[in-house]
Amino acid sequence: MKNRVGRAIIGILALVLFGFYTYRQEQIHWHSADVESWGPATGLHPEGFEAGVDMNAEQQQAPVQMNFTTPEPAMPAVPEAPAELPEPTPEPLRFDMSDWKYMLVNGDHSIDQYEPENLVYLNMTADETDLQTSYNPNRIAVDARIAQPLLDMALGCKAAGLPVFLSSGYRSYSEQAANFTRICQNNGITDGKDANGHYITMPAGCSEHQTGLCCDITDRYREIKNDEIFQTETFRWLRDHCADYGFILRFPTGKEDITGVMNEGWHFRYVGLDAARYIMDHDLTLEEFWQQFGDGINV
Ligand SMILES: [Zn+2]
Repeated sequence: MKNRVGRAIIGILALVLFGFYTYRQEQIHWHSADVESWGPATGLHPEGFEAGVDMNAEQQQAPVQMNFTTPEPAMPAVPEAPAELPEPTPEPLRFDMSDWKYMLVNGDHSIDQYEPENLVYLNMTADETDLQTSYNPNRIAVDARIAQPLLDMALGCKAAGLPVFLSSGYRSYSEQAANFTRICQNNGITDGKDANGHYITMPAGCSEHQTGLCCDITDRYREIKNDEIFQTETFRWLRDHCADYGFILRFPTGKEDITGVMNEGWHFRYVGLDAARYIMDHDLTLEEFWQQFGDGINV
């Protein structure tokens, strides 16, 4: 009898203990399921939270993950640097070859009786900077469109402490015809070419001087222009700076077979700033420039 009472008491105690344990488990479950917001009041903090730090300010710099049920790694504090954009492909260079500045004249391309519309006259030593528009036999004539750049280049050379002499600009068809005859006679030739087959004087209609877009420039008056000019400081300055004024060295050494003309360290041709920079930077001649940009035009 005593044993039965004892077992009953143990059984009751076990039931009570089990019931209490179950109740506690339920309470814990309800409590955690109840958490839907965080903050100082709940004592729960999202990842990245620091006491005393303004979370709004923090969030502006780096968004913080707010999911409590499936915690994920914190977002990187420093946003990733944007991937470097590829260099934009440069537009292919184009030149409008119908532009007057690129007019091509050589032994194979005559301009026949062409005459510039407007000539202006520059002092040969560039001492006077006014551009005279009426005929003046003591000055050199050039196409009015290149007069100012030519004068600027001459003045730039003088400002560098070097002497400048503008020895020859525009020559008419008839003047070139007379030149050709005289030089041929002086050299015992008939075609204007030296022993290598390069022109030393151009037939009328084939000289660039007839365009008015070029000028022979030396350090001083020289009765004969020859290779000595390559040794002058004036030549070196002009070669190095002509493109800054829109001019090119028209008949460079080593390109005689392309231009058909003996090298001339004195003959500078205006082609405008963009073309001059391109031609001088790439060691080209006007003929090669035409081959590149002339769209199949045979030069
Ligand atoms: Zn010349």
